[in-house]
Amino acid sequence: MIYQRSSALFTEAKKYIPGGVNSPVRAFKAVGGDPIFVKKAKGAYLYDEDGNKLIDYIASWGPLILGHAYEPVINAVVERAQNGTSFGMPTEIETELAKLAISMVPNMDKIRFVNSGTEACMSAVRLARGFTGKDKIIKFAGCYHGHSDSFLIQAGSGAVTFGSPNSPGVTQGTAKDTLLADYNDLAGVKELVQANKGELAAIIIEPIAGNMGCIVPTDEFMKGLRDICTQEGILLIFDEVMTGFRLAKGGAQEVLNIKADIVTYGKVIGGGLPVGAFAARTEIMDFLAPDGPVYQAGTLSGNPLAMSAGLAMLTELNNNLEVFKSLAKKAEYLHEGIAAVLTERKVAHQINRYGSMISVHFTDEPVVDFASSAKGNNETFKKYFHGMLERGVYLPPSAFESYFLNDALSYEDLDATINALKEIEL
Ligand code: PLP
Repeated sequence: MIYQRSSALFTEAKKYIPGGVNSPVRAFKAVGGDPIFVKKAKGAYLYDEDGNKLIDYIASWGPLILGHAYEPVINAVVERAQNGTSFGMPTEIETELAKLAISMVPNMDKIRFVNSGTEACMSAVRLARGFTGKDKIIKFAGCYHGHSDSFLIQAGSGAVTFGSPNSPGVTQGTAKDTLLADYNDLAGVKELVQANKGELAAIIIEPIAGNMGCIVPTDEFMKGLRDICTQEGILLIFDEVMTGFRLAKGGAQEVLNIKADIVTYGKVIGGGLPVGAFAARTEIMDFLAPDGPVYQAGTLSGNPLAMSAGLAMLTELNNNLEVFKSLAKKAEYLHEGIAAVLTERKVAHQINRYGSMISVHFTDEPVVDFASSAKGNNETFKKYFHGMLERGVYLPPSAFESYFLNDALSYEDLDATINALKEIEL
């Protein structure tokens, strides 16, 4: 495959955009080489600026669960655009999407729309702090909740002390209110809660993690988190930006059978347009402005084009719940195919999967948290990534990302992917 035009466009982009991209993972820093510039996409395929056709396993990092340029979504957006693109005033479609989203997920009474997953998580934490009157939160190493200051935190010295900034520009003052725990480590969480008794507003978690590969929580861990939160008056925030409307109609709350206090959404809920949302029971949501004291706002929040895309997407999913099973079966098929090739070739690996999220880790050890995910062999991953790309398969350009299957992928596409792997020297 040839990537001359992509490389030229990247060189040009770097002159005007920091790193040539508007979100760092797109720059291929983890795998080397130049990023692919996309010209268009349809169904399961990306078509790049050099005329290559790629089987896509990231689906815009999750939103395009039914494939690219899915007609009902595109038609809804085009039709809506004819009547104006933004008003900064209420529109009926916001209520329609709110009503539908709430009816699909367990346990949520009201929802507020924002423009990204970052905004949703940032606002959810502010609301939790306002509602509980407490300042501190617990997050888990390797979970990503967007790039707002409170989440750009790494473990500080000593497990029960506060975190420290992991990006310049985040202040120590902010970092001291974010405590870090390890995923699947209930004892560690209990220790943190004890050491900060009465000071915690929320525990925020990706209920199925997708930002350190795909990592599934143990039952004991999740039930334990729920119990601790209930006992201590801490709000449990499920960040369902990845999992919401992807794993099932009711997302991770449904499949894990755990009720969160606040849930954040993004990706699928916007059908490929910029939408995030957070939802909770009435008592909590009514703490938000204009009825309550916690301020939160947005010029383009509830934007009519974005709402149309989200409404069309959720309507399609709600009318065809089989799609979640179909996606999970495809993920299982891919899992088995990749595992068979790697096993036969004696390449150390772990494959983690839940529903349509899947990740391949080049390590012998089970991947259950950030530390075990970080043990994956990145040199092997790079060969795997570039080998697949050369053969027309586009995987996430980082070993820490989950693949997001879309239902436009055919079994022929999956076979082509598995066959591509057979040709690669790892
Ligand atoms: N939460 C999770 C679990 C995510 O995966 C992401 C982004 O990938 C975010 C939040 C942030 O969403 P956004 O990139 O829309 O700001």
